[in-house]
Parts: sequence; C-alpha cells; structure tokens
Amino acid sequence: MSAEIISGKETAASIRENLNKRVMELRESEITPGLAVVLVGDDPASKAYVGMKDKAATEIGIYSRQITLSKDVNEDELLGVISGLNSDPDIHGILVQLPLPVHIDESKILMAIDPDKDVDGFHPINVGLLATGDKDVLAPCTPQGVIEMLMRNGHDPAGKHVVIVGRSNIVGRPLASLLLRKVSGGNATVTVAHSRTPDLGNVTQKADILVVAIGIPEFIKRDMVKPGAVVIDVGINRVEDAKHERGYRLTGDVHFDEVKEVASAISPVPGGMGPMTIAMLLSNTVDAAIRSARDRN
Ligand code: NDP
Repeated sequence: MSAEIISGKETAASIRENLNKRVMELRESEITPGLAVVLVGDDPASKAYVGMKDKAATEIGIYSRQITLSKDVNEDELLGVISGLNSDPDIHGILVQLPLPVHIDESKILMAIDPDKDVDGFHPINVGLLATGDKDVLAPCTPQGVIEMLMRNGHDPAGKHVVIVGRSNIVGRPLASLLLRKVSGGNATVTVAHSRTPDLGNVTQKADILVVAIGIPEFIKRDMVKPGAVVIDVGINRVEDAKHERGYRLTGDVHFDEVKEVASAISPVPGGMGPMTIAMLLSNTVDAAIRSARDRN
C-alpha cells in the first residue's frame, strides 16, 4: 500500500486563492488588511522566512510592511516600535520574527503586542483563550495549518484519536487545544507525547491521526505507525547531503519512504506544513482586519 500524499502546497494555494477574493472584497469597502513583520538582526533563515511572508501577503493584496532592526537594538526601542504598530490604523497584524537576540526578553516583547493584532497567536491572552476553547481566537499558524490540512483533505479529526509528538508552545500544545475545541476541526481525542514518554512507539501506534513536531530527522519509523493512519509531519530539518547542489536536503521528522507504505495518507517535507503555516498567517491577518472594521462600526 502506498499512502495518499497530502499536498500542503496545493492546499495552501487554494486557501490563498480564497483569501485573495476576500481581500479584494474588503478593499472595495476601503479596508486593506495590513501586516507588519518585525525582524531583528540578520540571521539568514529568519530573513528568508520574513521575505516569504512579505511576498505571500503582497501577492494576495495585503499591505505588507517589513521592519528590520539592528541586532543591537535595545528592548525599549523594540517596545517603542511595537507600540507604534499597535496604534497604527493601517496595521491589523503584527508578527515579530523569532528567535530574538538573547539580550531581549522574548516574552516581554510578545506581551506588548496588542492581542487583537497578534497574528502569531503567542500573546498570553490568546494562549489562554485558546486553552479555554474560545472559537474565534487568533490561534498559532502552524497548528491551525495542521487542522486546515486535515479538514480540506477529507480527514476530519472529530471522534479520532490524534497523537501529537512534541509539546512546544508553537506547535504541540496549541494543536492539542485546537483539536479539543467543540467546533468543526476539533472534537478529537488527544494524546500529547514528548521526550519523557516511555515506549513512544506503543503510543504512536494507537493514533488514527499522528502529528509529529520534534525536530529530529526521520525519527518516526514504519513500525511506530498504525496501518491506515493519517500522518502529518511538521518537522523541517536540514540533513547534509553531498548529492544536493546546496550540500543539504530538507527532511521531516517522519521517515517518509518507510511510513508512506503503511499510512493511508501522509504530508511530505518540503511542500507540507511550510506553505500551510504562511497561508494561516495571511488568514489571521484578514480575520484581524475584518474584526477591527467590525469593532469600529
Ligand atoms: P521544540 O524543540 O520547541 O519542541 C520539540 C518537542 O519535541 C519537545 O516537546 C520535545 O520534548 C519533543 N521531543 C524531542 N525529542 C523527542 C523524542 N526523542 N521523543 C519524543 N519527543 C521528543 O520544537 P518546535 O515545536 O518548535 O518544532 C518542532 C519541529 O517542527 C522542528 O523541526 C521545526 O523546525 C518544525 N516546525 C515547522 C514549522 C512549519 O511551518 N512547518 C513551524 C514550527 C516548527 P520535551 O518537551 O520533553 O523536550
């Protein structure tokens, strides 16, 4: 058996197409959703991510503003930039690209973002709302992307046993909260596993839907997956590979070639969660703009 390949690239393209239509309608009523992405320093990976977000936003008609600050910027200056964006009526979504330099307190910065403009969903107010099952909260983009990927490809998690491997604040924990909500895309039975879970394979084998976000290349092998399970691979890892021009290849946390022989459906890396995460950032920005217009009227 070879699994159905769940293409994040295609799913994200269709989400972006719908969003583009919504943005055009909003612009006809004089509302242009605006996204500000703040980059501190010149880390090449962060720069590349920010560039992709900017391009994706602009392509669907969102007004995108990129703010690049020196790696030596102090906390107060950064807080000043955020305060300016909080009160800027052209900006509906603010994203501070992480990680920040060590001399800046990340939690202080995330806390300073207006929760209504927090399109990354990392502000403690939004984290708390999500944990209590709020239906309209701005939720973190990657876990939201997992839910959209499942729903749009015919794998509704309702009533299914979903095992998530990884308990980070960016992926595992918020995904568990999303899956537990009493809304479409939720109503799953959820198990969260992590590095202290004994006999992990025994846990993952029980999953109808297995989501893996640990950051270890090809960690999940065939014998850890129940035959017929749906497998979503969130991991993005660089593995040295002399055969590739750039000297490395990208791979997920799941051993794709092995697991595709036992799963009923599987998302690839690359072309899986990466494009979905960006699509959900755009979706959060459009939602934030609509809410801000509603609150003004
Ligand atoms: P973190 O390092 O923050 O968390 C990793 C989690 O995996 C932790 O909960 C850790 O457990 C768990 N873990 C580590 N080793 C094992 C193990 N041997 N067995 C079981 N659990 C283990 O990572 P992130 O959540 O930020 O990212 C995870 C992966 O997802 C990375 O590859 C990252 O690049 C990718 N990613 C992809 C995104 C996308 O857009 N596609 C977005 C965000 C992340 P413990 O808590 O016990 O330490």
